[in-house]
Amino acid sequence: MFFNKDKNHSTIQPFNRSTQDYITIKNDISISGNGLMKNKPCTVNFFPSKTGKIRYFIKGAEPFEACVENVLSTDHCVVLGNNKTKAMLTEHLTAALAFCGIDSVDICMDEMEVPALDGSSKKWVELFEKAGIEKHIFQKPKHYTVSEPVYYLNGKTSLVILPSDELYISYAVNYDHPDLTRRWVAYNPKNKQEIIEARTFGFYKDLKKFQMLGFAQGVTIENTLGLQDSGYTSELRSENEPVKHKMLDLIGDLYLTGINPLNLKCQILVKEAGHAVHIKTAKMLKDKLIECK
Ligand SMILES: [Zn+2]
Repeated sequence: MFFNKDKNHSTIQPFNRSTQDYITIKNDISISGNGLMKNKPCTVNFFPSKTGKIRYFIKGAEPFEACVENVLSTDHCVVLGNNKTKAMLTEHLTAALAFCGIDSVDICMDEMEVPALDGSSKKWVELFEKAGIEKHIFQKPKHYTVSEPVYYLNGKTSLVILPSDELYISYAVNYDHPDLTRRWVAYNPKNKQEIIEARTFGFYKDLKKFQMLGFAQGVTIENTLGLQDSGYTSELRSENEPVKHKMLDLIGDLYLTGINPLNLKCQILVKEAGHAVHIKTAKMLKDKLIECK
C-alpha cells in the first residue's frame, strides 16, 4: 500500500454526533481513470471509516479532510489539500458522497487528481452502491437550517440561503448559448438522477486555449459536454443538462461545510455563480448552521 492510514485521527466530531450516526461504505472498493485537468492515470481506493470525516490520503503524505478550510483553489476545479499535498477535481466525487449520504470514508489516491470518469457523479454513485452503503434502519437523517440568512451578492451573481420548512434549491444561469440564456432548474426528488448524471461542460471554442494553458488535458467527447454556437458536441442526457451540472457542483461544494446540503431545511437560490462563490458562501454557512426538527 502506498499510503499511511492514521486510524486514530478522530478527535473532532462536528455537532457531537456519536460514531454510530456516521454513514460509511460496507466494503473497500477502488476505481481508476484519468484526470480531466492533467490527464494522468489515478487509482482511488475507498475504505470504510468511523471517524465522521471524509479524508484524503495522497501518495503517503499527511492526510487532509474534505472541508471548506482545506480548499486550496477554485480555479477550473475544486482543489483540496494541505501544505504538503493536494487532490484536484474533487467536486463530482464530493457531490456523489452527498447524494449517497456518506459522511465518513477514507479516500486513498496514487496521484493528485481525481479521475474524471464520465464527467458527472454517476459512476461514483454506482461505485458506492456497489460497495454497499451502511444504512441505519432506526436512524433518521438529522436536519439543519440557518440561524439567519446567509448570502453572497456581487453584481449579477447571487447566492442566498434562507431558513425554510423544507429544502428548495434553484440554480439560474445566463450563458451566451441559445438554450442557456436565463435558464434555471429547481432540485426535486424527481430530477435527482438527472442531476447526478449531468456532465461537466464548457464552451468548445475555449478548449484549445485552456489546453495551451495546461488545463483540460483529459477532456473527451464522453466526459465533457461542449457548448457550440447553437448546439452541443454530444447529445444531452437530459434537458438543461449544463444547469443541472451547476446544481451538482453546488451540492458538492456545500457539502464541504460538513453538513449534507440535501439535509438542509433551507431555500437556496443561486444565480450565475461558480465554485469560488459556492465555497465563499459555504464558509459563511458553516458558522450559521443549526440543528432543527
Ligand atoms: Zn463540475
